[in-house]
Amino acid sequence: QIAYLNGDFIPIEKAQISPQDRGFLFGDGVYEVIPVYSKRLFTFEPHLKRLKNSLAATDIMNPLDDAGWRKLLQKLVDMHPWPDQFIYLQVTRGVQMQRDHLPADNLTPTLYAYTNELKPVSDDIQIHGIKAVTLDDLRWQHCDIKAITLLPNILMKMTAKQQGADDAILLDRGGFVTEGTSSNVFIVRDGQLQTPPQSTALLSGITRQVILELAEQHNMPFSETPLTLPDLQAADEIWLTSSTKYALPVTQLNGQPVGNGQPGQAWQKMQQHFENAKQAHINK
Ligand code: PLP
Repeated sequence: QIAYLNGDFIPIEKAQISPQDRGFLFGDGVYEVIPVYSKRLFTFEPHLKRLKNSLAATDIMNPLDDAGWRKLLQKLVDMHPWPDQFIYLQVTRGVQMQRDHLPADNLTPTLYAYTNELKPVSDDIQIHGIKAVTLDDLRWQHCDIKAITLLPNILMKMTAKQQGADDAILLDRGGFVTEGTSSNVFIVRDGQLQTPPQSTALLSGITRQVILELAEQHNMPFSETPLTLPDLQAADEIWLTSSTKYALPVTQLNGQPVGNGQPGQAWQKMQQHFENAKQAHINK
C-alpha cells in the first residue's frame, strides 16, 4: 500500500511525520474521505469544495490547486489494485518546533493521503440494519468544518457501543438532531424523506447531498427540516449516510424497533437509485 506524504509516494509503513507537527500536537488540521468506484473518483468536486471550505475556515494554506489535487489522488488510486476504494487525505498546519497555540507565520502544511479498499456493507447489515442510541452531542460550534479533532466523536461512539448499539444519533442542547458520530441522519415519515438543514451544528455530507438530489430526480418528497427525538421515535425509517457506508438503515433506536424493525422500502428504493447513479458515473 502506497501513501503520499509531502510530495513523495512511499510505502505506507515508511511514512513518517515530525512529532512537532501541529496535527499531532494540537489536532490542528482538516481532512476528507472520498469514495472511488471502478477506480473513478466519485463526487470529487463537492469533496474538493468542502476541503477548500475547511482550509479557508481554519486559515490553513491549500497546498495544491484543483488540478493538482485531482492528479495526485487519481495517481494514488491507480497505484492500487482495488476497483472500489476510499481515499483519506489530511492537511495539517505543519511542523512548528516551539509548541505554541498561536501558529507561526508561513508554516508549510503537511499533506498526507492514502487509499484503501472500499468494501461493501455486510449482508447482515443489509438484511437486519443497525442499532442506534440517542446521545447528547458533546461537540463544538463548528461541526461544519471537517476537522481532524474527533475526540468527542470517538467518545460518543464508544458510549454507543457500551450501551449495546452500533452508533449514536446526536441531539444538541436544544434537543434537535444534528447527525451521527460519522454520518448524517435521514428519516422517512409517511413517505416523506427528512433531514436536518445545513448549519454549523453538522457536517454538510456529500452523501446527504447526493441523496437529496436523487430524491428530487425521482420525485420522492423530501424536506430539510429540524428533527427532534419524538420525530425519530415516530419515523418509519431512519438512515445514517456517509461516503464509506452510503446509507445504513437503523432498525432499532434506544432499544425500540424503528417502523417494523426492518430496513424499509424507501431505503431499498434509494439504494437502487444510488447504484444507478454510481453506474452512470462509472460509464461516463
Ligand atoms: N457527519 C460527520 C460527523 C462525518 O464524519 C461524516 C463522514 O464521515 C458525515 C457526516 C458524512 O459525510 P459524507 O457523506 O461527506 O461522507
